[in-house]
Amino acid sequence: MAGNTTGRIFNIQRYSIHDGGGIRTLVFLKGCPLACWWCSNPESQSAKPELGFIETRCVGAETCGAPCLAACPADALELDEQSKAIVSRDACDSCGECTEVCGHDALKVVGHEMTVDEVLAEIEKDRPFYRRSGGGMTIGGGEPLAQPRFTEELLEAAQDEYLHTAIETSGYVPWKYLERVLRHVDLLYFDLKHIDPETHRMLTGQPNELILSNLESVLSIKKPQDVVVRIPVVPGCNDSAENISATARFVAELGYLQMELIGYHRMGVSKYRQYGMAYPLDGTQPVEEATMQGFREIVESFGLQEMTDRL
Ligand code: SF4
Ligand code: SF4
Repeated sequence: MAGNTTGRIFNIQRYSIHDGGGIRTLVFLKGCPLACWWCSNPESQSAKPELGFIETRCVGAETCGAPCLAACPADALELDEQSKAIVSRDACDSCGECTEVCGHDALKVVGHEMTVDEVLAEIEKDRPFYRRSGGGMTIGGGEPLAQPRFTEELLEAAQDEYLHTAIETSGYVPWKYLERVLRHVDLLYFDLKHIDPETHRMLTGQPNELILSNLESVLSIKKPQDVVVRIPVVPGCNDSAENISATARFVAELGYLQMELIGYHRMGVSKYRQYGMAYPLDGTQPVEEATMQGFREIVESFGLQEMTDRL
């Protein structure tokens, strides 16, 4: 049964005023084919469940007795010189046993299975807010179409309940998956991270030819006003006038579209440490407002409607 199809979710965020208009519930799916240097959800990249460890919450063995060490069947935990826990990422299989015994919420596994019906029940809780604000459900990630069946069925189920639906995609997915969800999507956010294939590969791990051809195909089906092309503007990565111009030109040649420039931020940086990952852009600072304004003017000079920065 469709409602029993499961997806791997890492967060459901209620009362968001970003990503689709009105008050929205954002459903974040785990797993992504890209690994962008600036990713603010590093825990979304792997499709598997992962153990997060918040060091600042760990009170240390002298206070709590470190029950986490005894609970771990994989010997993946030890203590540092301050008697606080350290996770061996090679040994940990994210079983979650340690999270059951830590009384300080220092350990948490992200990535759990939910059915379409379960996610929909969460979304339904905020229906009065959607009605009043013109909001609805937005599926992001990770890459929602890395779990194509679940995403398609969740979108269809939400639409059957007369909810506004939006999806955020990297575009790096087989066209057949994207095509199948389009009829269930009221608003599509489509990322274009760099117009040059080799630079795109360097910054994200994958080239962009599939992304560009998918965007072209999207426009043969969706109305331009139902698509927003997004550029995350990241210093030292894609923040040149040449790249913004070339991207805007490509988009403008496909037909009139809305484009949104999103300035780089550092909100996800602390999460890299929580998941034992290195942050590729250490030291990078947000783009100056004057620079962003210059980029907005470039976008508008191609006849595109530049949307407000949403962060
Ligand atoms: S992770 Fe939790 S249980 Fe383990 S030492 Fe830290 S506070 Fe104690
Ligand atoms: S999630 Fe499981 S394997 Fe990983 S540290 Fe905790 S108990 Fe050990």
